[in-house]
Amino acid sequence: MSDETKYYDDYPSEPIGGKNPYYRCSSCGRSAPEINGSIEGHLEDCPWRIQKKKELDIKRNKMGETRKQEFIDRYIVTFLATWTANNYSFACSHGRHEMLENPPVEDAEFLAQAAWKKCEELLK
Ligand SMILES: [Zn+2]
Repeated sequence: MSDETKYYDDYPSEPIGGKNPYYRCSSCGRSAPEINGSIEGHLEDCPWRIQKKKELDIKRNKMGETRKQEFIDRYIVTFLATWTANNYSFACSHGRHEMLENPPVEDAEFLAQAAWKKCEELLK
């Protein structure tokens, strides 16, 4: 379930009291039916809402970092394997096996970073 559609009821709550059977957020005072599990159901200046939004932003950034690292790792592996395969025949037929043992790792890393940057710009 995505964070956007998730039902959030982990805010501090208290009974509204009187004859009202419902609970309300202890931070902003909105009732549980008004909130209905949505972060936006809380008042904009609700401390719980502000804190929750912060946590979700941090989580989203971490997921972004993980995706970036996976992209770069896969790019480098694919790039180096392809480079080696493409140069294999040449190296063998020209007695230059040593070039296969020195693949362009730094270039692969640089190009992976550049490709990620470009993808991010285009896919925003
Ligand atoms: Zn609230």
